[in-house]
Amino acid sequence: MRQGCPLSPTLFNIYLADIEEEMRKGRGGVKIGEERVWTIEYADDILLVAEEEEALRDMIRRVKRYLERKKLVISSEKSKVMVFKNKGGREKERYWWWGKERLEEVKTYKYLGYVMSRSGGEVEHIKERIRRARVAMGWVWSYGERKFKGDVRWRLKLFDSIVKGILYYGVEIWGYKEWKEIEAIQEKYLRWVLGLEWNTPGYIVREELKRNKMRVETGWRAGRWEERIQKGEGGEIGRLCMLERRKEEGECDMKEWTRESIERRDYLWRGGLSEESLNEYGEDKWEKVRDRDIEVDEQERGERIRRSKTCRKYNKVYGIPEYIRRCGRKEGKKMVRIARWRCGNEERGNKYWLKEEERKCRLCRKEREEVEHLKRECEYVKDKRSRWIEVLNEDGRGHEWMEMIERAREERERESARAGEREGGGE
Ligand SMILES: [Zn+2]
Repeated sequence: MRQGCPLSPTLFNIYLADIEEEMRKGRGGVKIGEERVWTIEYADDILLVAEEEEALRDMIRRVKRYLERKKLVISSEKSKVMVFKNKGGREKERYWWWGKERLEEVKTYKYLGYVMSRSGGEVEHIKERIRRARVAMGWVWSYGERKFKGDVRWRLKLFDSIVKGILYYGVEIWGYKEWKEIEAIQEKYLRWVLGLEWNTPGYIVREELKRNKMRVETGWRAGRWEERIQKGEGGEIGRLCMLERRKEEGECDMKEWTRESIERRDYLWRGGLSEESLNEYGEDKWEKVRDRDIEVDEQERGERIRRSKTCRKYNKVYGIPEYIRRCGRKEGKKMVRIARWRCGNEERGNKYWLKEEERKCRLCRKEREEVEHLKRECEYVKDKRSRWIEVLNEDGRGHEWMEMIERAREERERESARAGEREGGGE
């Protein structure tokens, strides 16, 4: 039969229909509640699971004999062994055999697109998702540049449907936790859309576009999935696993909790909830938890904006600011200009990490470069109406003034470049 033939999974199933039954005759397997599971099959993949090393060796020998009886061959090169480790535990070198051929022991293994690592951690998986999401984001970005420049709504939609789709794979497992790498991806995209500098604070960018942290959605998805599994919608084994997990939390000391349990508890606590109060919520409880998390996210954001050093004059508004909402597809440039002024990118005085010299006004080079200085004091801004101009308003008023300042800066730059040349040439 040819590879990729649509019949192959069916044939595979027929051939291997009794493998679990066969394995049940010997040792090995993993206990889940009162049940025991030896193998997990998906399409043409077989997974053997065991709690001890010797039991797994025994299972491997038995599977080999079983396949030989059926005259089936598997690739020992593609087959791997992974040993999950509990906290600590010293590394020792083990050898695994498939007849006379060696089986490689690996530290991570990808199964159905999920990268599992021996510690049971999610970091490896997240890393891979981020890598893939970055590639997609580059593509989505340049497509948006060509097709809907200035149309923020569409550009966010593109992100939500394509980049998030890639990023969220396996969210049911890691979703309770807030991952800074995942938040960084969204914030980076938002900065791109508004044409902001890379060091514009994430909370400012999210506020400007009224976007919540990714954790709000990932946590909700993980919760909803948990609920479905508990109801048995993901099969009996899934239900038993979930039951076991919640039972463990009740029984053992918090120090012994798995990472997943801790992340879940932290997620609930952020919304001020305990396991008991969660159950009191009843139907649509995870929606309610999400609403709480949104409130917390907004509070945290508000707090950071109040304390912001780089964006002290930021003008917070309800909803998405008018200059973004009203922006036409051909007005992308104007929108970026307003965003940059509102989000503090056009002032150097705010950039506390720069040397004092670099924080000075690019026009007069005397005072720190701040909007108020430009409006009231700067000798290079001759227009007397300047002092009455509002530049941080959500409707983008005063953008002609912003343009004028930017042009004056360019002019000043050219001037000093010319002066530099004259000096250099006069030797
Ligand atoms: Zn000045």
